[in-house]
Amino acid sequence: MPTTHLCKSCGQPITGRYLNALNADWHPEHFCCTVCQQPITDARFYVHEGRPCHPACYANSLAPRCTHCNKALTGQYQINSWGDRYCSDHAQTMASCGYCGRLVPHTTKRMRRRSIEAVRCDHCASTAIENTPQAKLLMTNLIIWVEAQGMGFRQKTFRIELLDRADFISRKSGRRDPLGLTSSTRFMRQKRVDHAKIESVAILRGLPHTLFEGVCIHELGHVWLVQQNIVNLPSLDEEGFCELLAYRHYIEIGSNVDLFYARGIAENSDAVYGGGFRKLKRLEERVGFAQIIKALLRKKKLPL
Ligand SMILES: [Zn+2]
Ligand SMILES: [Zn+2]
Ligand SMILES: [Zn+2]
Ligand SMILES: [Zn+2]
Ligand SMILES: [Zn+2]
Repeated sequence: MPTTHLCKSCGQPITGRYLNALNADWHPEHFCCTVCQQPITDARFYVHEGRPCHPACYANSLAPRCTHCNKALTGQYQINSWGDRYCSDHAQTMASCGYCGRLVPHTTKRMRRRSIEAVRCDHCASTAIENTPQAKLLMTNLIIWVEAQGMGFRQKTFRIELLDRADFISRKSGRRDPLGLTSSTRFMRQKRVDHAKIESVAILRGLPHTLFEGVCIHELGHVWLVQQNIVNLPSLDEEGFCELLAYRHYIEIGSNVDLFYARGIAENSDAVYGGGFRKLKRLEERVGFAQIIKALLRKKKLPL
């Protein structure tokens, strides 16, 4: 006795020719495309959510489209941190945005080598901080946020500047980070730092808004340390502390862009910035942020 084949589509027994596909039997005329509902006669077909479809129907109606050329992505393709999908070969020709990593049309890989700001995508450009009044306004709110972390400032007025790359590099004094620079003067008495005055906080011009905030928070960490006369921390501890502060801000705001930059801090391969952050993050998880602040204020160093 031959076994009875039931058609997966209509549920009726199949007496003549039948087709076996997707772990089921079908009347040949009932094995239909999920898009156009017409029978699939070719041995080559696509499967979309468990349903068969014509390769052409898949490409026309279901396949994701390339962000850059709008071609249907039916073979291998790439996807970036923002969920954009694109043809694999674009990554060979276009440069990626120095800030967010998106591929930028009309660029070449060579352009990217110059500096972080050499290639900036439209997303990042549309929120960029380009002038000082804008920067000052944002900084006012960021100072309030930092103070709410238990970090009071002795002096809240200092110069805030946006610098182009050349000026940023040529600035001599201060603690230089990749995108920010805090300058201060230390007043000595009997060979010890008596007090310190913040002269200015400079940020590289043109950073996208979210990154600008993170960089400012980091610099405000340095400002606070100087104002509290905590001037002898090893670089690993100081940069780690400032990165932790910026990280906390990104996590608190929590937009997908903030979380992207938070990940950047956590995964930074740099020994001082990345290594310092991871050291401070472990410390924070063990003793809590408030305890870190308390120890810094009382003992001018990190808690054990
Ligand atoms: Zn059938
Ligand atoms: Zn079809
Ligand atoms: Zn494409
Ligand atoms: Zn970008
Ligand atoms: Zn720093």
